[in-house]
Amino acid sequence: METTLRGVGVSHGVAIGEVRHMGTAVLEPPAKQIPADEAEREQGRARQAVEAVAADLVARGNLAGGEAQHVLEAQAMMAQDPELIADVDRRIAVGSTAERGVYDAFAAYRALLANAGEYLAGRVADLDDVRNRIVARLLGVPMPGVPDSDEPYVLIARDLAPADTALLDPTLVLGFVTEEGGPTSHSAILARALGVPAVVALPGAGEIAEGTVVAVDGSTGEIFVEPSQEKRAEMESASAARKAALSAVTGPGATSDGHKVPLLANVGGPGDVPAALEAGAEGVGLFRTEFLFLDDSKQAPSEEKQVEAYRAVLEAFPEGRVVVRVLDAGADKPLEFLTPADEPNPALGVRGLRSLLDHPDVLRTQLTALSRAAEGLPVYLEVMAPMVADRADAKAFADACREAGLQAKFGAMVEIPSAALRARSILQEVEFLSLGTNDLAQYTFAADRQVGAVSRLQDPWQPALLDLVALSAEAARAEGKSCGVCGEAASDPLLACVLTGLGVTSLSMGAASIPYVRATLAKHTLAQCERAASAARAADSADEARLAAHAVLSGE
Ligand code: PEP
Ligand code: MG
Repeated sequence: METTLRGVGVSHGVAIGEVRHMGTAVLEPPAKQIPADEAEREQGRARQAVEAVAADLVARGNLAGGEAQHVLEAQAMMAQDPELIADVDRRIAVGSTAERGVYDAFAAYRALLANAGEYLAGRVADLDDVRNRIVARLLGVPMPGVPDSDEPYVLIARDLAPADTALLDPTLVLGFVTEEGGPTSHSAILARALGVPAVVALPGAGEIAEGTVVAVDGSTGEIFVEPSQEKRAEMESASAARKAALSAVTGPGATSDGHKVPLLANVGGPGDVPAALEAGAEGVGLFRTEFLFLDDSKQAPSEEKQVEAYRAVLEAFPEGRVVVRVLDAGADKPLEFLTPADEPNPALGVRGLRSLLDHPDVLRTQLTALSRAAEGLPVYLEVMAPMVADRADAKAFADACREAGLQAKFGAMVEIPSAALRARSILQEVEFLSLGTNDLAQYTFAADRQVGAVSRLQDPWQPALLDLVALSAEAARAEGKSCGVCGEAASDPLLACVLTGLGVTSLSMGAASIPYVRATLAKHTLAQCERAASAARAADSADEARLAAHAVLSGE
């Protein structure tokens, strides 16, 4: 029977398909004894599971290619280690079940690795992953990590970390539903980057059985479990009508009276460029370079590798603007070689620009690579720093850019309330501002962007957040400089009008949102956007702000 659940819709569109769960950590198998005459059968089961997991890892490696392939092949070899298999056999021979034998043999091997020097200790996480896969197969529970499926599916997860996404096949994921996360979580950002519908902050999602058909409405946040034929047909036709209406509006972003608001794309690397071009992005407003660094958490990618990736993105936008953000490691994007392991409060610790200023060599290599990548290209390169707190931060970044001889505009992200409050002072050092509303909301409301329970406070319609946007935009206007938005706020079509009314000069978002924002902006004048912005700021809550802006823009 059809039931309806409701979370927070974070990526537009409709997805209908069977549910596959992202496997979580495998439980410890019970330590029960088996009779001696079952040992041989159990040993066979264990070996079969090991072989299947190794073959699967190799197949995934072939699919992923690059650095990921090496990691997965190394994991496959770990699974087939003859000594490990012999130890599993021994344990089963004295009464362990296959799953318990594997679990205990891996635990012994793990202890050896953990004490065998830094390099091998670093492989412990890989070993745990292999063990979890083998034990999951033996227990018949979902594999940890991305589901194994050849058919398209709706992915349900607790939340998605950036590292989970490397192996996700975008052609198979119809949509996402997560239990945790808010509108600015990585799951939401990833869904928009892939252009798939998504709903987050839905605590009951984990209970939807594997294989159940669901219909996800990424605009309203509704999930219909086992939808009727009528419901499916109704949702599919509404979604098709919306897409047709969207493709009717093309060209650069502007209000109906011609006030230009460039619509730019957020990208994580060259792989996101085709979708950005297809959506008619006028450039890139946020190139999140940390995705390049995720392949190897031990060291930064070489200068050559960086040049190659940056150039591939810069080349795609001749005469366009490309804003590259230098590495934003730490907190929700930890990197072993940069992020202190023992921070009590990583979101308030050494992250973003702070970790780069602590590791000037990493920043210098990145800026040099950018400079080399842009050589000879007719692109407008802009480079910005994440997590700028004050003028001293902005100056340190601008100095580093100058020292690297970078021919580009230097800018600061406004992600910390202090930067919005003192935007004019920061603008004495840099040439533009870019509002990272995801972190700005997190730090304004003291609400972790990864925690579903506080997603209400992550709502970018919060009037306090709009006030900080207005302060930044006014400061930039007074200094004759630009102030864009590259946080997820820009991807909400109605909010995009409000941001325009607040004086924001460009909007950058996941490519899939561009047509929605373009079409909505084109329906309203700048004066209407300004009125909607005032009405939203006068409200006392995010919901009221949304309603007030909607009332102005729909002429109610
Ligand atoms: C932001 O914080 O709004 C932002 C754009 O950066 P990220 O989401 O990568 O932290
Ligand atoms: Mg940020």
